[in-house]
Amino acid sequence: MKDYVNGAENLQSKVLLLTQQVEDTEKLIENIKKLLLLAKGGSSAKEIRDTGLELVVEQTQSTGGYLHFFDERENVIDLVAWSKSVMEICDAEKTIHYPLEKAGIWADSARERKTVVHNDYQSIPEEVKGGLPEGHFPLYRHMSVPVFDQEKLVAIIGVGNKEEAYSQIDIEMTEILANMLWSVLLQRKAHEILEKYSFEDGLTGLANRRRFDEIIVSEWNRIRRNQSSLAVVMIDIDYFKRYNDSLGHPQGDICLIEVARVLQKSFRRAGEVVTRYGGEEFAIIIPNTSLEKAKNSAKLACEAIEGASIPHPYSDISKYVTVSIGVAGISPTSNEYMELVSKADKNLYKAKANGRNQVIAK
Ligand code: GH3
Ligand code: MG
Ligand code: MG
Repeated sequence: MKDYVNGAENLQSKVLLLTQQVEDTEKLIENIKKLLLLAKGGSSAKEIRDTGLELVVEQTQSTGGYLHFFDERENVIDLVAWSKSVMEICDAEKTIHYPLEKAGIWADSARERKTVVHNDYQSIPEEVKGGLPEGHFPLYRHMSVPVFDQEKLVAIIGVGNKEEAYSQIDIEMTEILANMLWSVLLQRKAHEILEKYSFEDGLTGLANRRRFDEIIVSEWNRIRRNQSSLAVVMIDIDYFKRYNDSLGHPQGDICLIEVARVLQKSFRRAGEVVTRYGGEEFAIIIPNTSLEKAKNSAKLACEAIEGASIPHPYSDISKYVTVSIGVAGISPTSNEYMELVSKADKNLYKAKANGRNQVIAK
């Protein structure tokens, strides 16, 4: 009888353990999904770091956590994030760089290159524990996980003060999340680098402002060499703020894509380049043209935009989305290509002041 009761107790605790494992795994999958969404959603590196750390703290039912980057060449630890809970209760420095040899046993994961757990942290003698970052919250339990990138130690993620002891499952879950977090950060970095060197506008697929600046310089040099001509057309959508405010930003994006498509159809002769100059502004470079010809092309483009019949319920001047356009041509007196751009811009401003949905070229 006694054995039976014991057996039942064992069974019950086994069921409890299994239930806990299922819950942990479900939470882990949820947290991995959240991390992957961060990578997709255009979050900044700081947002990814902070959110990733919160997820690790939550997953392990800890009360605090930290993220350090590690510079293996210098053997220096850089503190980059505390969890929110830590920031609330302690006044530790936000950014600290210090040599590994000064760090206490909490950094053993960096020395031993594997996860370390101190479930009895509180009872370890001070001289063995060694230093904690100044102002650190009182630790009584601790786990620290190293993150490697191609065998190089790149980060340490630590959590502390779970009510129960950190288990093997905690270790494995934290290792998975820590590595995911690093991958997402790398993905973000790669995206930033690509964007920095890109010549294409991500939304419309047009050439971007960087490409415009490059082309205008080379065209400028070309016309100075062979006395040819050049015009710049600056285009700005009318009442676009109202469009966004009333129909929503995503619809605004769709409108920008549509306007870009119409402009590309309007300026498709050899050498003409349509660019997205900024937010809702487009700039077109037309080589080998007179001001008159450029003005005519601009007028046709202006009509084509309104003719595309993109409904604009809050425009004062049309039922549809319209644009204002300023055109400038190269003049023998100008000695700076920027003059060409600012002249086109001034004409655009005049077109706005004059009632919008029109072209000014002088
Ligand atoms: P105006 O007729 O004088 O040109 O007025 P406007 O409202 O068009 O001009 P304003 O410069 O006040 O507003 C431009 C708006 O363009 C504000 C901004 O929210 C929106 N915008 C800029 N870039 C983007 C983008 O990439 N997507 C969306 N949806 N909106 C954008
Ligand atoms: Mg504008
Ligand atoms: Mg505008």
